Amino acid sequence: MKEGQPKAIELKDYQVPAYLIDSTELHVEINDDVTLVTTTLIVRKNPESTAGTSDLVLDGGKELVTRSVKIDDRDLSSNEYGEEPEVLTLFDVPDNFTLRTQVAIKPQDNTALEGLYKSGDMYCTQCEAEGFRNITWYLDRPDVMSKYRTTIDANKSQYPILLSNGNDVARGESGERHWVTWEDPFMKPAYLFALVAGDLQHIEDSFTTMSGREVKLQIFTESHNIDKCDYAMLSLKNSMKWDEEAYGREYDLDIFMIVAVESFNMGAMENKGLNIFNTSCVLARADTTTDLGYQRVEAVVGHEYFHNWSGNRVTCRDWFQLSLKEGFTVLRDQQFSAAMGSPTVCRINDVARLRGAQFPEDAGPMAHPIRPDAYIEINNFYTATVYEKGAEVVHMIRTLLGADNFRKGTDLYFDRHDGQAVTTEEFVKAMEDANGADLSQFRLWYSQAGTPVLVIDGEYDAGAGTYTLNAAQQCPATPGQADKQANHMPLCVGLLDSAGQDMPLTVRAGSDGVSPLAYIENADGQQTAVLNFTQAQQQFVFEGVTEKPVPSLLRGFSAPVKLSFDYSRDELMFLMSFDADGFNRWEASQRLAVQVIQEVVGQIQQGEKPQVDARLITACQNNLDQAVERNLDSTFDKAMIAEMLVLPSETYLAELVEVADVDAIHSAREAVRDAIARQLSGVLLAVYKLNQDDKAFEPSATECARRSLKNVALAYLMQPDDTEMVPLCVAQYKSANCMTDTSAAIRALVNSAAPAAQLAKEEALTQFYHRWVEEALVIDQWFSVQASSPLPGALDKVKALLEHSAFSMKNPNRLRSVVVAFAFQNNVNFHSKDGAGYTFLADMVIGLNSINPLVAARILSPLTRWRKYDAARQELMKAQLQRILETPELSKDVFEVVSKSV
Ligand SMILES: [Zn+2]
Repeated sequence: MKEGQPKAIELKDYQVPAYLIDSTELHVEINDDVTLVTTTLIVRKNPESTAGTSDLVLDGGKELVTRSVKIDDRDLSSNEYGEEPEVLTLFDVPDNFTLRTQVAIKPQDNTALEGLYKSGDMYCTQCEAEGFRNITWYLDRPDVMSKYRTTIDANKSQYPILLSNGNDVARGESGERHWVTWEDPFMKPAYLFALVAGDLQHIEDSFTTMSGREVKLQIFTESHNIDKCDYAMLSLKNSMKWDEEAYGREYDLDIFMIVAVESFNMGAMENKGLNIFNTSCVLARADTTTDLGYQRVEAVVGHEYFHNWSGNRVTCRDWFQLSLKEGFTVLRDQQFSAAMGSPTVCRINDVARLRGAQFPEDAGPMAHPIRPDAYIEINNFYTATVYEKGAEVVHMIRTLLGADNFRKGTDLYFDRHDGQAVTTEEFVKAMEDANGADLSQFRLWYSQAGTPVLVIDGEYDAGAGTYTLNAAQQCPATPGQADKQANHMPLCVGLLDSAGQDMPLTVRAGSDGVSPLAYIENADGQQTAVLNFTQAQQQFVFEGVTEKPVPSLLRGFSAPVKLSFDYSRDELMFLMSFDADGFNRWEASQRLAVQVIQEVVGQIQQGEKPQVDARLITACQNNLDQAVERNLDSTFDKAMIAEMLVLPSETYLAELVEVADVDAIHSAREAVRDAIARQLSGVLLAVYKLNQDDKAFEPSATECARRSLKNVALAYLMQPDDTEMVPLCVAQYKSANCMTDTSAAIRALVNSAAPAAQLAKEEALTQFYHRWVEEALVIDQWFSVQASSPLPGALDKVKALLEHSAFSMKNPNRLRSVVVAFAFQNNVNFHSKDGAGYTFLADMVIGLNSINPLVAARILSPLTRWRKYDAARQELMKAQLQRILETPELSKDVFEVVSKSV
């Protein structure tokens, strides 16, 4: 390590805080040039600390300008404290005292969007993980919890709305200024602090909790967005009700507020009683928001609301425990979305997200367990691993224990730890204690990184009437973890007879006399054995099996692993038609598609003409025929059929092989899409027409399902280069009554190489831009649809988009709409052989490093995956990483990701 390079913080070095802060009083005076923050803290020595120090060491951001430091109302002299960058040390303090500091900050210059900053004309905060220290000197760590009283003082006409956590307890005005005091009765860590000042409108509603208390609900936005808040309000009320029913959790304050902000690094933030949201996660209106956008609003509103218990009432001891609140809360929002829509489709989307983002992370240089051991910059650990795999780990606990026992565990966890800052260990312990369960081996999921690989084969013995699964598990080495132990995971298995029915299941005890069976789940014609898979190699024997079954393995994706089982294509088609587990029906369709696409990749690499296995076409045809026959059958899940028609993504296909041939994967996937489109054009058009409907927009699950099936059909119809469907697509674009249909049509036009589409796409793009120029989130879609188009010449387009007057590096949504769309979603162009895509991304990272380090570190991740590609591309990618590493004044965020990758 070079001198001056940032140091890693390690979990094993954790110590309890030497001092505690019982009360925190903030006075924030907002002025155009400078904001003054006066902080009064009641501090006491922590009786549990053995540090033996009488110095108080406070955290503070680089930009704080200290105006005064007082202990018990006495100004400290310069030899009583020392100020270094980011640290204020008060020497030899008493055991109990009042500390008063005043600092000056400039939120208007804060482009990192951490702490207090300006988004457009409003002031807002983002304090997780370590943003609060940019507002004032503090013990900025989650295990220091305090009661907050906050007064905001600002110009009355510019900032009529002044908000903070808790209840509004006092207000007043003098001249052009006014002030409001907020008091939060609950102890909380600094990362949950929030403050908003702006000229905002709001909508209001109320919710009566299960114990009969009335809670005021308010959603604030700038006035031009006030007509897009109703769906978020509905989602909030649904979340509050669902959490009472599913987890017995009731809301605790008299008011709950959401504020929508345009410039925001993340999705949303669960600050106590005052959630702050990226506009993209709160605003929804039929003509501006796609169905996916609606679903995201519902999921994120739910997620942040659920944090009130899993995160706020019970919080994390330190940032290594981030998955304690995030993994559990992601699981809760997934369950909520499943309850509101199609559970199978929700599960498919959860797993697709895990495979698309988390599996590559687990296989790359940043691989880490869901509870990391060390970090340089905690912002880099808000990852798919901590969130999505973290949710899968809690999901596995639920599967192993069963739903009712899991609820006993969560009840105990909330009761036992309410008001505390705890660890993932305490979560697992509560699950064990409530159920008398043993999860000791299961804990490895918290400390081992990497995606386990399962290899299973099946053996039928007709004479003995047994079916044996020989299962092996192995977890690949990851940075810092060469050898892994076998994980404890639930393996959910059904056996299908030749009629496609689930067989009754009897599981034989192991050679040690212990049955590997946790329980058998019987529901809706399903018989699923939940097996404890605990050894590197393990046999599971089913008895009384009267014919050779087709096994349905890992039902519902019971563990976050890669499964290998030698299914024939006919068996996959059989599972696609008959598996009682909806997720595995989809999974069979994906496995079949993967096999067929990989075969075509091989043909392309050999210079042969692609031959697409007719069985995949037949499988798609079966689905489409059913969609025609059962068009009006309300029990038929159109959303699931739509998912089954979508081929696995190029990213996932790349993930499945050692060295990804980007161009061959792209060409093969396109060739398969082309074959489906040409051979099934008749039935695709029939499905399209049956699902075309111009009745008024509704965001209901049934209507979303109809639109998604129709638009999947449209994308296929537009696939061939000589398609005759351009007029149909243009007609949809022009007559659409919702953004889902508008956006599907413009995407199909933009992605089409058909000569007939060229003029139409230019006209549509121009019209779209002018129509929506006032709607930032819609303009984000306009950028993204162009940047993600796989047609040749995308990089030049992207560079032109950066020059567009509506582009800004300082707004994370806008930046992502171009850079993420290109580098993450446009594999074939990003990985162009000449390396121009890599140079472009490195330029963006270097440019953003000083503006917004958090986002800069996130967008560079495609470069860190260089091991996946051929030697020439590896060299080009590494050269760009090296160039980033040599950038002067590299932020900790970017340094950590790049230095681990080269
Ligand atoms: Zn969260």
